[in-house]
Amino acid sequence: MAQVKPKILVTGGAGYIGSHAVLALKNTGYGIVVLDNLEYGHQELVERLQVELVVGDLSDRTLLDKLFATHNFVAVMHFAAYIAVGESVSDPAKYYRNNVAGTMTLLEAMMAANVKKLVFASTCSIYGMPKQVPMTEEHPQNPINPYAITKWMVERMLADFDRAYDLQSVVFRFFNASGANPQGLLGEDHNPETHLIPLVLLTALGKRESISILGTDYSTPDGTCLRDYIHVSDLADAHVLGLEYLLQGGKSDVFNLGNGNGFSVRQVIETAQQVTGQEIKVVECDRRSGDPTILVGSSDKAQKVLGWRPQYSELSQIIKDAWQWHQQRHHS
Ligand code: UDP
Repeated sequence: MAQVKPKILVTGGAGYIGSHAVLALKNTGYGIVVLDNLEYGHQELVERLQVELVVGDLSDRTLLDKLFATHNFVAVMHFAAYIAVGESVSDPAKYYRNNVAGTMTLLEAMMAANVKKLVFASTCSIYGMPKQVPMTEEHPQNPINPYAITKWMVERMLADFDRAYDLQSVVFRFFNASGANPQGLLGEDHNPETHLIPLVLLTALGKRESISILGTDYSTPDGTCLRDYIHVSDLADAHVLGLEYLLQGGKSDVFNLGNGNGFSVRQVIETAQQVTGQEIKVVECDRRSGDPTILVGSSDKAQKVLGWRPQYSELSQIIKDAWQWHQQRHHS
């Protein structure tokens, strides 16, 4: 049995990426408490993982103080956030209140409890439109929607809090999180679903009529956008490494997490047809506004500094694991 390590608070641990991080932490031997308001998170995922779930909101300072007083946390992993780009444009207040003010409340509760290590889930969308690819951590930052701005603001807050209050953080900027736990325990379940891979697989399952390709006139080999799809279990492993880096006294830092390879929308659909054995009906549509042609990240820094080695870089593996999850979810 793994040796019992210290306790970590995971906010948003009932969500897609958070739950995979909880599993990776658990497999490494950490004690875990999940804080999730279950607005978008799934209680059954936390139950499957057999870890303690506290249902509550980041904005509830009394609850946070009680949590920190009850448990001897050494660090926090912070995933809880709203993530829908379109909604962040139509209702920005919701995003600033939760993602920025909520994080502020969490940071103040952490400091009051003298817990000064944080792993934060950020996004490559803080870079805005790519000026060069692959994008490194030094790429200029120009977030173009309120969702991305909230993540960018928290990154700024964390840099200031380190300087002023000695709160150390590891920030991960994800590219396109995808796939599912290879053992079929966890997976993606957003409502509404907007991401390409689950939409393609729901089409393969017959839950949707067709998949729309949002733009076929981009300057790429097949005319469709290229994205860097990174397996969620690889993301989760990076979070454990980031945590251990902080616990061993590492200084605050920022890391991209991506696959380093760009796959086109058509490649995703073709691979999904091969993996599922189903014909997937495609409708070619106009571009979606704000979509960059190519988004591919360099994760060399995470590999070098944290020793991160992504294990599931093949698109077919990512889609195979996601397919297993979606089949199981819709047939049970
Ligand atoms: N996309 C698509 N059809 C869809 C959803 C997405 O063609 O129904 C494209 C989208 O234009 C982008 C890529 O798939 O080029 C990945 O989109 P997703 O929303 O999954 O992630 P994003 O890169 O926008 O964060």
